[in-house]
Amino acid sequence: MLNFKTTNILFIILFLALCILRFFAFVNIIFFILLLVEYLLLLTYGSVFINSNFYIKTICSKTNDNKEIAITFDDGPVKEITPLILDMLKEFDVKAAFFCIGNNVINNKSILKQIDNEGHIIGNHSFSHSNYFDLFSSKKMTEELIKTEDIIFQTIGKKVTYFRPPYGVTNPALKKAVNKMNYTVIGWSLRSFDTKCKDPAKILSRVTKKLKSGDIILFHDINPEIINVLRNFIKYALSNNYKFVRLDKLI
Ligand SMILES: [Zn+2]
Repeated sequence: MLNFKTTNILFIILFLALCILRFFAFVNIIFFILLLVEYLLLLTYGSVFINSNFYIKTICSKTNDNKEIAITFDDGPVKEITPLILDMLKEFDVKAAFFCIGNNVINNKSILKQIDNEGHIIGNHSFSHSNYFDLFSSKKMTEELIKTEDIIFQTIGKKVTYFRPPYGVTNPALKKAVNKMNYTVIGWSLRSFDTKCKDPAKILSRVTKKLKSGDIILFHDINPEIINVLRNFIKYALSNNYKFVRLDKLI
């Protein structure tokens, strides 16, 4: 599978081959433009699709025949939603992973403690979750990761080891930052689209239809719609003999 490094090597070879051809014979400039467009399309694909492993090695699922699955929640903790989710997880004895935004942790330290006390995993999901996070320099990204890691450590006394990129977007700057932090990067294999779709029935239908053994499922603990979806999803999975395992145990 192509990654950033092999793509660069491949396109340098193709570019040099075109240059040599152009030296000996007529090669229309359009071929150079097509090569550049293809290169840029590949870089964009690698950035947007986290499971492409293009820039960063990312764990998005774990093949198994035991119908084991892991649920994850991004963007919290949030006062109005996260405690309700925690109650539900407790009711069904399900352990999950929460990828927290540092800025949200500051105002919800007691919820973070509750997440940890109740046996869930806490991961880093940046400090600001800025719309421009992917345009930040590696230094600025690293500062965000350190800031969030420090707040989490001050709150629960544990160092985070898992990271999920905001929006699932990756690039060379993020790779540098992640390597510096020595994080394991976590993606997903099943996305609920619960931030884009506000219809609980549609969200539920999507996650139940596509569910398979080894899935890492992405929810967000910031939308009220998620409460009902989650209850029905857990019931569906359990009645179909799926086992919820904590992210670290699944992978
Ligand atoms: Zn997010």
